[in-house]
Amino acid sequence: NVRVRFCPSPTGNPHVGLVRTALFNWAFARHHGGTMVFRIEDTDAARDSEESYQQLLDSMRWLGLDWDEGPEIGGPHAPYRQSQRMDLYADVARRLLEAGHAYHCYCTTEELDARREAARAEGRPSGYDGHCRDLTAEQKAAYEAEGRAAIVRFRMPDEPITFTDLVRGELTFTPENVPDYGIVRANGAPLYTLVNPVDDALMEITHVLRGEDLLSSTPRQIALYKALIELGTAKEIPAFGHLPYVMGEGNKKLSKRDPQASLNLYRERGFLPEGLLNYLSLLGWSFSADQDVFSVAELVEKFDIADVNANPARFDLKKAEAINADHIRRLDVKAFAEACEPWLTAPYANWEPERFDRAAWEAIAPYAQTRLTVLSDITANVDFLFRDEPVDDEASWAKAMKPGAAELLVTAREKLAAADWSSPDALKEAVLAAGEAHGLKLGKAQAPVRVAVTGRTVGLPLFESLQILGTDRTLARIDAALA
Ligand code: GLU
Repeated sequence: NVRVRFCPSPTGNPHVGLVRTALFNWAFARHHGGTMVFRIEDTDAARDSEESYQQLLDSMRWLGLDWDEGPEIGGPHAPYRQSQRMDLYADVARRLLEAGHAYHCYCTTEELDARREAARAEGRPSGYDGHCRDLTAEQKAAYEAEGRAAIVRFRMPDEPITFTDLVRGELTFTPENVPDYGIVRANGAPLYTLVNPVDDALMEITHVLRGEDLLSSTPRQIALYKALIELGTAKEIPAFGHLPYVMGEGNKKLSKRDPQASLNLYRERGFLPEGLLNYLSLLGWSFSADQDVFSVAELVEKFDIADVNANPARFDLKKAEAINADHIRRLDVKAFAEACEPWLTAPYANWEPERFDRAAWEAIAPYAQTRLTVLSDITANVDFLFRDEPVDDEASWAKAMKPGAAELLVTAREKLAAADWSSPDALKEAVLAAGEAHGLKLGKAQAPVRVAVTGRTVGLPLFESLQILGTDRTLARIDAALA
């Protein structure tokens, strides 16, 4: 039975790297009919926040990434917030000490720094040198008499650690590269190095899929796992798979502080969850060279960790947008209309929400659906319907109102006033005829009409737009443009 975990720390805003990790774990669990455990790693009181915790939950819900055990749901291994599991960690630390898998280390930061410098200068490995590994009872007593506080350090085995990474294949770490490491601070606070594998063990996690930045902690965790198995706390070492780095602008690692990395940005711009998930799944994975647009169901069906690529993935906003546009087109029109509503009914610079008119929106929605890259684009496309006057955009006006435009508008107004407004084709005939009267092709003739009525040079199909806006408002706007 597959059991995976998504275990973010609640610091800052959710970012795309985090979501990619959540998604791969979720897709893996769903593909195998396994269990998705959501655990909150909030042992760093100085950095963790309740707001960030709420955002994490909210983001997961928005994306549709559900979990089988975790916050708000509970489960057999509750609680799923590490801040509520402190007794468990203290107990494991005590037992590791008793069994000799860990020891008290009295070295001060200054001493450690000085020895590290000296080792570097001599070209020796500069990690922890094992100074306190085998202190005698007298030595310990002397340090304690000095009033030194001790951290708890895990004793790494003296032989290499080899494991088969699900993405990278077989990897070996030699002891000089993985020195003994701290698991409990001098003040008694347990560290990530302890709580993360202890919870993975207690929660019976079978597969750890996480970012490549955590690769160096894997040999330590495997060693700790072996100790936990000996103590009867763990059953089996999980399989590990490290997901490739995501590169941003200028081929630099996308950092969580990068504005492009903020999940909220995509949500506010009106990415569909399925569009964003589709794109994020391609950051290190694909199932076919010629299919990059797929549904979440397809993603789950096809997801195979063997297809995850070890090479860094490149974050490409244009591609993300193109994929999202595809997902917008895939919606049925009713779902599309509903998905846009948050933008249409919120107060925007361009109109007040009480001007929103559902009938007009439903009439225009099918024409808008094929035009959008992100849902927030909708307001610029339909604001002409929900304002008293079209937006006042000087550049558009200057572009469309060339010499002769006024004469054209006069004729167009006449012909439109006389047209049959039950069909957009009749409105097109009217503008076509007005153009002919002034020696202008349809394209040239419709430009001043569009700007007069919508305020913009580009937009949704014009004659459908005029029809939905209605005769009176259309003619009044042409009059206003001529005034
Ligand atoms: N809480 C850790 C983090 O957010 C989890 C790392 C892991 O997946 O092991 O980086």
